[in-house]
Amino acid sequence: MDTIQNGIEQVFSYILNIEKRTYWAFLISSGLIVFIFHKVQVHKTSFVKYLFPKKVWLSNSAFVDYQLLILNAFLKVLLLSAFAIYGLRFAYEVTYNLEVWFGQPISLSATEVVIYYSVTITLAKDFAFFTIHYAFHKIPFLWEFHKIHHSATVLNPFTQYRLHPIEMIINNIVAIFVFALVTGTFDFMSDHQIHQYTLYGIGVFSFLFLSLGANLRHSHVNLGYPGFLEKILISPYQHQIHHSSDPKHFNKNMGGKFAFWDLIFGTLVRSKEVEKVKFGLGKENKDYDTFAKSLIISPIKNLGKMINIFKRKR
Ligand SMILES: [Zn+2]
Ligand SMILES: [Zn+2]
Repeated sequence: MDTIQNGIEQVFSYILNIEKRTYWAFLISSGLIVFIFHKVQVHKTSFVKYLFPKKVWLSNSAFVDYQLLILNAFLKVLLLSAFAIYGLRFAYEVTYNLEVWFGQPISLSATEVVIYYSVTITLAKDFAFFTIHYAFHKIPFLWEFHKIHHSATVLNPFTQYRLHPIEMIINNIVAIFVFALVTGTFDFMSDHQIHQYTLYGIGVFSFLFLSLGANLRHSHVNLGYPGFLEKILISPYQHQIHHSSDPKHFNKNMGGKFAFWDLIFGTLVRSKEVEKVKFGLGKENKDYDTFAKSLIISPIKNLGKMINIFKRKR
């Protein structure tokens, strides 16, 4: 009974928890950005029609997003609560070991902690995300699971959570350990005061990122950033290019918040280079147009094929 209740709470947390990208206030702030974008771009359609097209919010593809979100919320409760507790213990162990190695905790000033912690946690989490995302694209076995995210033929903010449970679990475990490692280190460096220096439990930069239209990455609003900025921050349109069904754009723009990882690894594409984007996997879209096909049928079929090819080669 508890699991069901916690699962339902987890589903609603996507809208009600400030740590989630789709928190209601971040959805509203994204809507305000779209309002300005719509005014500047002079669209024929009204703002409301532009923001809520039926084919984006009520399509088959969108319903697969919603179903996967609900399933993943329950799986999180069932499988990941233990890891979150282990992550906390891991953070304490990091602090404890640093104290053993270096003696008394270092006591940075409040300003120093805020700046160093926010920058470190943001960079560490983003680089970890880039690395896993890169692996999910480049390793064929992992790509079979990540395909589910890319099979969306329309994007809405909840497509962010259209993930195969295998990917959701790997992403969460890595995120928990990166968070624990950095937070444990800064707990040591702030003389156990780190809890005071996060804004509502999330970092300052995360808060800015989420308030400033992070939700538009998974949307039909093709907002790019001007000039040089797209080499530093991934714009909504740059992530939409990542979802392109055109082979030219495969394995491009794999960054989360920052674009410089893609710049360093040679996978960056800027908005001005791409005029129009069609989302999805092209011919393969039909293999992922229902919840059951996305979750079980297509991954098993494709992994089976892969194993057979591997056996024949041997
Ligand atoms: Zn991807
Ligand atoms: Zn995406």
